[in-house]
Amino acid sequence: MAEKLKLRKGDRVVVLSGKDIGKEGEISRVIPERRMAIVDGINVARKHQRATRATAQGGIIDKDMPIPVSNVAVVCPSCGRPARVGHRFEPDGTKVRICRKCGGDL
Ligand SMILES: [Zn+2]
Repeated sequence: MAEKLKLRKGDRVVVLSGKDIGKEGEISRVIPERRMAIVDGINVARKHQRATRATAQGGIIDKDMPIPVSNVAVVCPSCGRPARVGHRFEPDGTKVRICRKCGGDL
C-alpha cells in the first residue's frame, strides 16, 4: 500500500532540490499515484506553441510541471521554516498535521 502523502492542495511549500531550489509556491494539485505535486510557478516549462485553429494564437506558454513530493517541504506558518510533518489528534479524533520543529499546526 502506498504511503499517504503528507502534502495537499493549497499547502505553501519550499523546493529542496533541483533548478528551483529555495523557491516557494502553493500546491495547485497533488498526484498521489505518482507521488508528484504541481506547484504554482515551480518547475515551469516554456512551451513554444504553434498557432492552431483550437488555440487561435501561438507563442510561448508557461506550464507548471509536476515535481516529486520528496523535493518539496511544507513551510510552517508558525516558525516559517521547512517543516517535518508530524501529527496529533484532537479530542474528537481528528488528525491534525503539526510542525515537528515548533509544534504549530500546519
Ligand atoms: Zn514550525
